[in-house]
Amino acid sequence: MSYDPDNIFAKILRGEIPSHKIYEDEHSLAFMDVMPQVDGHCLVIPKERFRGLLDADATVFVHMMPVVQKVAKAAVKAMAADGFQLRQYNEHAAGQTVFHLHFHILPMKEGVPLQPHTGKMVDHAGLAVMAQRIRSELT
Ligand code: AMP
Repeated sequence: MSYDPDNIFAKILRGEIPSHKIYEDEHSLAFMDVMPQVDGHCLVIPKERFRGLLDADATVFVHMMPVVQKVAKAAVKAMAADGFQLRQYNEHAAGQTVFHLHFHILPMKEGVPLQPHTGKMVDHAGLAVMAQRIRSELT
């Protein structure tokens, strides 16, 4: 399977569609998921074009994983969560819906279940507030 340069995350990276950014550096971008499964659900993507984990050049993880850790720490703190899940889907059969490599960060609270994957879109004002709360906890 090849990389489609017109996928939604490629468009976000090119600035063609808006996103609620949390963190950005030379190699990676973190932003809010528009259909959050839980408060503070955010995504980390590489700027390089990879469809999923298997076609990625392994060096991308050297850049990405510190960002995943940094954003997860901030999201857990901002949401006063008790833990978090890190999820990553590969190909349609496994639930992937956007074919640009990404990690989901899902802050979890005891007893609070996740909403369905790619369920309801939430309003931009709410996402902006979440993004600001997470950004303010970045160290
Ligand atoms: P996956 O199903 O693992 O490929 O995850 C793709 C995620 O991207 C889903 O959780 C969607 O809710 C999310 N998503 C889709 N479109 C956008 C968008 N424009 N901005 C932010 N997140 C999005």
